[in-house]
Amino acid sequence: MEIKMKNNFETVIGIEVHVVLSSKTKMFSSSKSSHTDPKNTNISPIDLGHPGTMPLPNKRCIEKAIVLAKALDMEIEKNISFDRKNYFYQDLPKGFQITQQFHPIGKNGKIYLDENNFVDIERIHLEEDTAKQTKEDDGTILLDYNRSGIPLIEIVTKPCIKSSTEAGLFLKKLRRILTFNDISDAKMEEGSLRVDVNISVKPIGSKEFGTRVEIKNINSINNVEKAIEYESNLQVEQILKQEEVLMATKRFNDKTLTTEFMRLKTTNVDYHYMVEPNIFVRKISDDFITDVIKNNYTDIKSIEADLLKNNVSQEFINLLMDDYELFQKFKFINDEIKDCNEVIKWLCVEFVGSLNKVNLKLKDATDFQLNQLLKMMKYLLKDASINAKQGKEIVKLLIETNKDIDTLIEENNFKQITDKNVLRPILEKYVEANKPMLDQYDSRPERVEKFFIGMVMKDTNGQANPNVVTEIFNEILKLNK
Ligand code: ADP
Ligand code: MG
Repeated sequence: MEIKMKNNFETVIGIEVHVVLSSKTKMFSSSKSSHTDPKNTNISPIDLGHPGTMPLPNKRCIEKAIVLAKALDMEIEKNISFDRKNYFYQDLPKGFQITQQFHPIGKNGKIYLDENNFVDIERIHLEEDTAKQTKEDDGTILLDYNRSGIPLIEIVTKPCIKSSTEAGLFLKKLRRILTFNDISDAKMEEGSLRVDVNISVKPIGSKEFGTRVEIKNINSINNVEKAIEYESNLQVEQILKQEEVLMATKRFNDKTLTTEFMRLKTTNVDYHYMVEPNIFVRKISDDFITDVIKNNYTDIKSIEADLLKNNVSQEFINLLMDDYELFQKFKFINDEIKDCNEVIKWLCVEFVGSLNKVNLKLKDATDFQLNQLLKMMKYLLKDASINAKQGKEIVKLLIETNKDIDTLIEENNFKQITDKNVLRPILEKYVEANKPMLDQYDSRPERVEKFFIGMVMKDTNGQANPNVVTEIFNEILKLNK
């Protein structure tokens, strides 16, 4: 992997990712886990930390963490325990967050970026989200406790990432694992995948790390890459000017594409970590782990290998793997059509292209439209009752009008003409007018056949069924012999 060196400095990056688990209920209560519902509707006394309430770990979330640990090739902790991280802030009504400080559920993993390069993952642990706060213009702070207690997994890498490109690739690979294993929908723009990036620079080859700056909550992979570029250049400049790089927390401004100082980072905040006394340590067995993996783990590599085996180009493999929603729709259609590249062409190029033309996205497509696309592909590939040109027009109209395929075919006269009594006179007309061409049949059969069939197709606006025309052509040939 190409790594850009700046004035003999190299960049060191470590990433912390928080993902919201796809879970019906919260981490330690049975409240609904959804932050899009009306504010403060999914709250229980446990989420608010009322005295005497007892948190109960969500088994499905523990299972999802085990699947992630497996996918990252980690050591899995068999004594599941939780700890309190104590601090005071208005978004934390309990005064502490329940997390896994002492015994993270997974340790020492890796994600491969390509055959030779991987990112070391230090740990993954389960924890709960805090309330969501919004600041009004007059300074009032509003709190939505729907988010309190929503299950999270934090993923912490070692400081081993060497460039913005590697960081971007790492996040894409991680997102594949999270989405294909139903761990999280991992949408950065919606906050279900949140990224903090730690960046430092050091002279090439130096053993000692430089002072790091932490950039919080960057909202897209693209901006993660830009933030790293900007911040690492800034740090090199500062060092060359003999200024001090301050250990700071910053944010990325996506308008100016620069990092902005928020506060100095104090390393030794004392969170008084302690074992959460209201949750018993739960020992899980090897059999339990094996079962969870067997029932829930999806191997990304085998899916990619399968696509490759079906002659899908690397470009389209990446497109499908980086967009789980697209992949699911691809799979829905391909389970019936069983021709990867045709499905990619019609779904990813024509269908998505038509959506984009009317400013819609794939997520706006309805099940109805998807089913109609499938039907269109059957007509096109299985029955050959429409041709590719008509198919394109139908897909466009499907998105624009939302009418069903049969109606569109009817309305646009795309119905194929298969009636020999209609097609024969048309073909005969051209044979009559081009006798010398027909006489060349023995020397160049393919060209002559193509010529006449082409004439009929043109005459019928592409509605003639080419197979039927070929049949008639062969009949006429026999008569002329
Ligand atoms: P904190 O809890 O204060 O954020 P951690 O020690 O948990 O600190 O480290 C957080 C992240 O910072 C990790 O991903 C780690 O890899 C990264 N990191 C640590 N030191 C450096 C450094 N010198 N340069 C870049 N990243 C670093
Ligand atoms: Mg941090």
